[in-house]
Amino acid sequence: MEIPYRHTEKIKINQHTKDPDRKRMDAFRVAVLVLPDAPRKPHWERLAYADVLKARFQRCRRRDKHACQLLTDLPNAAGTRAILQTVKPDASNFELLCSARKIAAELRAQDPTAVLLHIAGFDRPTASRLTETLTAAILAAVCPMPSYKSKTDKPAALKRIEVYGLEQPVDLAQVLAESIGNHLARWLSALPANDLTPAHYRAFVTKLAAAEGWKMDFLDTRALARRKAGAFLAVAQASPVNDAGIVHLRYRPAARGGQRLALVGKGICFDTGGVNIKPARYMNGMHEDMQGSAVALGTLLALSRLGIEHPVDCWLALAQNHIGSKAYKPNDVVTASNGTTIEVIHTDAEGRMVLADTLALACKEKPRLLIDYATLTGACIYSLSSRYSGVFSNRDALHATLTTAGRESGERVWPFPLDKDFDEDLKSTLADTKQCTLDGEADHILAARFLNRFVDDDINWVHVDLAASNRKGGLGHIPTDTTGFGVRYTLNLLLQQGALEQSWN
Ligand SMILES: [Zn+2]
Repeated sequence: MEIPYRHTEKIKINQHTKDPDRKRMDAFRVAVLVLPDAPRKPHWERLAYADVLKARFQRCRRRDKHACQLLTDLPNAAGTRAILQTVKPDASNFELLCSARKIAAELRAQDPTAVLLHIAGFDRPTASRLTETLTAAILAAVCPMPSYKSKTDKPAALKRIEVYGLEQPVDLAQVLAESIGNHLARWLSALPANDLTPAHYRAFVTKLAAAEGWKMDFLDTRALARRKAGAFLAVAQASPVNDAGIVHLRYRPAARGGQRLALVGKGICFDTGGVNIKPARYMNGMHEDMQGSAVALGTLLALSRLGIEHPVDCWLALAQNHIGSKAYKPNDVVTASNGTTIEVIHTDAEGRMVLADTLALACKEKPRLLIDYATLTGACIYSLSSRYSGVFSNRDALHATLTTAGRESGERVWPFPLDKDFDEDLKSTLADTKQCTLDGEADHILAARFLNRFVDDDINWVHVDLAASNRKGGLGHIPTDTTGFGVRYTLNLLLQQGALEQSWN
């Protein structure tokens, strides 16, 4: 199946500083009109068809004084569907993204080729936030997702977004890059595991790297054996096909001298749990256990499209966690590439095994900042739900910045501790460390402590446990259960918070 990750590139976005008149409105089948929560006369006066819209909205408010959306058809030849939304100017970006998702869903149902977006009555920063969040949500809503139905749904018709009423055009480059990266992450994650095998995944990444001008290496199981990557290989050894390995992508900007960034992702294309096999309820959906790698890849794609001035290395740990006579077992002892010996406790904790060697390899390139993404632990979901993802760092000073990036991007995260004494729980009589425990207490923190062993102390490290990778009905501006959480977050962390340029010691 061809991966249509460039779908949203074909959508034109034009911005206008004037307000649209009736004639303009008549040319659209769908118009989105955004006003402040308690619209006053000067706000209404900026709208075309103000009299009709005001009367209908006030009727709506008389029925429900909290009503903030009116869906109505304008009395013109096109019967333009107007989606009138009122917004509290102090709403958080997460709230704006959620309301934008609802608007985008209505728009998607109408399936127009062009949409008019009129934002009236807000100060400049709020108007910018609204333009960004609405654009992000509309692009997310019209992205196709994989379908194997014999009668597939028609792709969305949208070709053009016309934004009106802005004091000044808004720079949407980051939103556009993010939407491509997020779409790629969601698409890959939604593919079934018999389609997205490690071999197919690698073949796609090879084509993508060529198209985007990245260098690519693939460390297959033989290359990993030479590097003594025993933790990764323990997981891969039960695969019926020898297709596991670590992809290494290099983005290099034209100008030299930027700070080096490394992105690492867990890419378990299917997780049976191994010999500690998962029950049906928990195995269902495990084709998405590669979402960390898809988020790392989507983030690289977005950064590369933005022409970021920093070199980026991206590492994807691609494998399947299978059952079978060759599978690794509890109490096996394996040696990772940095010499650490690991006592296996539970074969379903395979994510930290493949990441151990991948992180150790990534550290050899001496990045300034290393970020890894993984659908790693149920404990993180129990702690935060699927509304937030968990973050960990070997630099406490980073916590405030990590949280701010979550609040600003609307992909919310919360930090967990990473104190040394947690290691006592991972003490092994046989090896340097246990892989995990069977006690079930704070497994997300123990997993992060375990990974910390494979990250050099002098590297700023952020570990993202993707609790929010899948949420029924979507999350924020994303309408699908598969969220691709992390691309938008990381762009904010790097580009708005400047996490790469600062020293965090
Ligand atoms: Zn697992």
